[in-house]
Amino acid sequence: MYINGKWLETDKTETIINPATKEETGVVFVGGEKEAEEAIQAAQHAFKSWSALSGNERGKILINVAKELVNKQNEIAETITKEMGKPITDARREVTSAAAYLEWYGEEAKRVYGEVLPALDTKKQLMVLRQPIGVVGAITPWNFPVSMITRKLGPALAAGCTGVLKPAPSTPMCAMEVFKCFESGGLPAGVANLVVGEAEAIGKEMTSNPIVKKITFTGSTNVGKLLMRNAAEHVQKVSMELGGHAPFIVFEDADLDDAASSVIGTKFRNSGQTCISTNRIYVHASIKNEFSERLAKKVRELKVGNGMEKDTDMGPLVNLSALEKVEDQVKKATEAGATVVTGGTRLDNEEGYFYAPTVLVDTTDAMSIAKEETFGPVAPIFTFNTEEEVVERANDTQYGLMGYCFTNDLSRGMRMMHQLDYGMVGINDPAPVAPHAPFGGVKESGIGREGGTIGLHEFMEEKFVSIRTSTNLF
Ligand code: ADP
Repeated sequence: MYINGKWLETDKTETIINPATKEETGVVFVGGEKEAEEAIQAAQHAFKSWSALSGNERGKILINVAKELVNKQNEIAETITKEMGKPITDARREVTSAAAYLEWYGEEAKRVYGEVLPALDTKKQLMVLRQPIGVVGAITPWNFPVSMITRKLGPALAAGCTGVLKPAPSTPMCAMEVFKCFESGGLPAGVANLVVGEAEAIGKEMTSNPIVKKITFTGSTNVGKLLMRNAAEHVQKVSMELGGHAPFIVFEDADLDDAASSVIGTKFRNSGQTCISTNRIYVHASIKNEFSERLAKKVRELKVGNGMEKDTDMGPLVNLSALEKVEDQVKKATEAGATVVTGGTRLDNEEGYFYAPTVLVDTTDAMSIAKEETFGPVAPIFTFNTEEEVVERANDTQYGLMGYCFTNDLSRGMRMMHQLDYGMVGINDPAPVAPHAPFGGVKESGIGREGGTIGLHEFMEEKFVSIRTSTNLF
């Protein structure tokens, strides 16, 4: 743990397991409520001086930290792969992306503008100031264990906030790597603090301590709801990036090869363990066979294995319960009539938690796979006949994070852009994410946005000021 600029040891440790080998990756010190409270105090103490720096000064430090991340890219990427299993090339890309968020917010820190409003009374000057919200509690998941940290702390620190981060229990070493970069990049003590350990106790302290003014969370919808309920006690502001159930719609006029390759990117990257992973592939009935064959061919070519081997395309699932959940969804689907085109089993010849990349056809809307987030490498193909029908079915979920649509008809693509009820839509684009673009969901997929100027304003309060003078001003 890293509190007030010091690395802290406790009398309790946790062993981190490599999901590809079930071997030990490392041992970390863990804590709970007490350490969370200390870290919140440290963040409060540091807030005064950090928020008093100019945006330029804060930005320079964040850009330094981004450089540190890039310098240590290989080392950090190895930690990612050994803690959560993703292939090393994807892990390297994650480090680059994590640095890009810090760099973008480092630059944006100097562009926090207020507003001057037109006055109704000529003796008045009306203004809106933007000020940092205060101490932030950030809770991150294991699937992007490095970039999720910078996507939260980048804008928070740029805004002038200080904070406490709780990483996922399976990936604390990645968080430690990021915090080492904060340290070597020159971030003052107490500005960013790391607390590893009991999720519930640390979360409770973050939501019950009135010093914490904002909770920013990425994780499951259930935990997000719990945090929101607890945050209500002190009317803490919240940003929530929760679950998703992305539809991937392929119209009959789409470039089928491009669409199939894009399913590989959106479904099998990270072994399907991302909140924007494709969950339901809707294919026009007239191209079902052709599309599923093309997709299955590409899926069979994926090399599954330990992410440390450089030609690995797909690593393991993060742990046994993730593996069992995927297995259960596929079992329920096949019992209800779905057909396995490829995959459909665990890979028992491997040591770790591996599941074969899988394509299912004959799946229906009644199956659990059509409703529950899979978080695994299973691509279920559904068929549709009309545009109206597919929009209705794609939107028929409590989730609303990402929707993908493949078509070569521009008008249709634009209709879909308007009609898909999602926070983000990729038209012929399987990777619609960028540091300067707002990332986030509607419905039960979340509240608030990360990325871009909106992401910065999430960590700021707007203060309206009216100055009345004794003379007419204009
Ligand atoms: P996943 O199932 O993908 O691990 P979770 O929502 O359980 O998603 O975890 C995301 C993050 O939320 C992790 O850092 C986890 O430790 C944390 N978390 C889980 N339960 C709680 C809780 N009750 N209070 C605070 N944080 C929690």
